Amino acid sequence: MKRKTKLRIWSVFTHGDTTMLKTPAQPVDLSTLQNPETQQMIDDMIKTMKQADGIGLAAPQIGQSIRLAIVAGEVNGQKEPFVLINPVVSVIGAGQIEGEEGCLSIAGVFGLVPRAEKITLKAFDRFGQPWSTQATELFARVIQHEVDHLNGVLFLQRLTSFTKGQEKLS
Ligand code: ZN
Repeated sequence: MKRKTKLRIWSVFTHGDTTMLKTPAQPVDLSTLQNPETQQMIDDMIKTMKQADGIGLAAPQIGQSIRLAIVAGEVNGQKEPFVLINPVVSVIGAGQIEGEEGCLSIAGVFGLVPRAEKITLKAFDRFGQPWSTQATELFARVIQHEVDHLNGVLFLQRLTSFTKGQEKLS
């Protein structure tokens, strides 16, 4: 049974015009974080990600071409959805690992994607405060996947092989 999410997630299968999913998003004007509408949108994105059983959701996936994403992860023992605003990722070292990825906008399709093993993330939180963290493994992978969305890049462009659902794209 498919649950209905709070916000409509753009899908490459059902949306006629998916240009936004392939277009680099604009930086967030931090002063807009004071608007109740923006805070509501962030709450709705968190709710939508959870309802869809996702571990990441980027604003272009809900039709907002701005550099904002939600990721599930753990920072300093704090396990919660993190808000990434205007995120910048720097790769630490040359380590790459391949892992399976999927995407709420390409439901049912999975594939192996090489990603940097270790990264530093710098971003602003939902109140416009800067924060940063190092991330490895799955958390690093999710962050790189979501930042790709903000650059108009889908994981299909990076995968080395499909693991499931390839036929859905033909
Ligand atoms: Zn995705």
